[in-house]
Amino acid sequence: MTTTVTKTTTKTTTKSSTTARGYGWEHQKARKAALVWAVGSDCTRCGEKIESTKGIHYDHNDDRTGYLGWAHAYCNCKAGSDKAHRIRRTTVTKTTTTTTITTTITEEI
Ligand SMILES: [Zn+2]
Repeated sequence: MTTTVTKTTTKTTTKSSTTARGYGWEHQKARKAALVWAVGSDCTRCGEKIESTKGIHYDHNDDRTGYLGWAHAYCNCKAGSDKAHRIRRTTVTKTTTTTTITTTITEEI
């Protein structure tokens, strides 16, 4: 006898557009215009000098209404990751269930 097991996994991911995430045409224009002063500026996250235009991000403020300046890509991604981690940590509520067991002992006399 032969048994065949078929496993189907479906993964659905939703990705917002570049504009919805704050990286649309307006961001690209602002980034290009600011690129001329990137090298030599201080990273908005770690404060170290930006040495090259490679591996840098034009860093948004937290509500994405403006820019903080240039940041190393690593520093900016770490800041985003830390922020996401903080949000997750504060929105997860822990539920504790308490179970009470009552035992009745009956003695036969
Ligand atoms: Zn940095």
